[in-house]
Amino acid sequence: MSRVRLTLAEVRDRATRGLVRAGISDENAAVIADVMTTAERDGCESHGLFRMQGYCDCVQAGRTDGKAVPVLHDDAPGLLRVDAMHGFAAPAMIAGRQVLADKAREQGIAAMAVTNAHHYAALWYDVDGLAEAGLVAMGFVNSQSFVAAAGGKRKLYGTNPMAFAWPRPDGQPPMIFDQSSSASARGEIQIHRREGRSLPEGWAIDPDGNPTTDPEAALAGAQLPFGGYKGAAIAMMVELLAVGLTGGKFGFESHAEGHTDGGPSEGGQLLIAIDPARFGGGDGALAHAELLFQEILSEEGTRLPSTRRYEMRARTPTEGITIPQSLDDTIRELCGE
Ligand code: NDP
Repeated sequence: MSRVRLTLAEVRDRATRGLVRAGISDENAAVIADVMTTAERDGCESHGLFRMQGYCDCVQAGRTDGKAVPVLHDDAPGLLRVDAMHGFAAPAMIAGRQVLADKAREQGIAAMAVTNAHHYAALWYDVDGLAEAGLVAMGFVNSQSFVAAAGGKRKLYGTNPMAFAWPRPDGQPPMIFDQSSSASARGEIQIHRREGRSLPEGWAIDPDGNPTTDPEAALAGAQLPFGGYKGAAIAMMVELLAVGLTGGKFGFESHAEGHTDGGPSEGGQLLIAIDPARFGGGDGALAHAELLFQEILSEEGTRLPSTRRYEMRARTPTEGITIPQSLDDTIRELCGE
């Protein structure tokens, strides 16, 4: 399949124009375009321009409010609640991030609950800014149900990612891991389908509950949690933290609404920010953590999570990125070209 090369400026420009054309406000389009551009910059294809159609479709279906203005509720010294007002999660996250960071500095630890939000991004984006500001951060978000419970056959949990970010001294970018609790992100299965490739074993079961490597059967059936029942427990924890605590919709509740536009469901999100200097490790906490990272990296074959992204980040501003011709066609159409 031929691919089209784009600069990051072109990615941002097209994303912004397409989102605005779909009825998303200028302010929200700027944030969401940044989410997609940042994903492309860091080599996360499944959350870059690939998502444009879904963002546009769910707004045009009237299910997500592209013009929503998030409302902040300062409920307690260590707690911020952000109502995304049935819009996308990224503008809500950006609206609350500084208040969350300030609260974490004041209290040592603070949490932000985001409700009535449609999350369609890579979760590392939400913790990256907090860790860049020197805070340890954790994020949890649920999605529409796609993943079977341990031993189950039907879609129950979302693909439910969690992200963990640890700031590093001396201008080093933070260590961040961001992983779905399913064996793969759903976007990866869609990309395999688009490219006519079989799935690795262990990613999914078909509608009868049999293991499958066929992307179509996997999308009709259910994804599997990573690591069997252990991953299923993480998926359950994410549903409870992101939704049970915050008062959103569980994946199966969103699924029951049966929307078919391909965009994100309305779920919940929890972010926790921690000031590393305020716990037992004090000012030396980050330097001490570097010993662990050194120890990990002293063995051949290891790397820290996020290193791959940072390597891509160093290259794409000059090299640009590539997208499949078919996606380029879709984006042009969404931009009205
Ligand atoms: P991956 O399995 O690709 O990667 C998970 C993490 O493991 C990354 O932080 C990655 O770092 C790290 N990693 C990979 N290989 C190694 C290695 N050899 N050594 C050390 N660390 C490693 O992610 P997923 O497929 O589970 O998820 C992909 C994305 O999908 C995530 O960004 C997630 O937030 C998003 N998602 C979003 C959802 C939503 O509803 N909004 C739902 C589900 C998923 P690196 O990036 O450097 O490779």
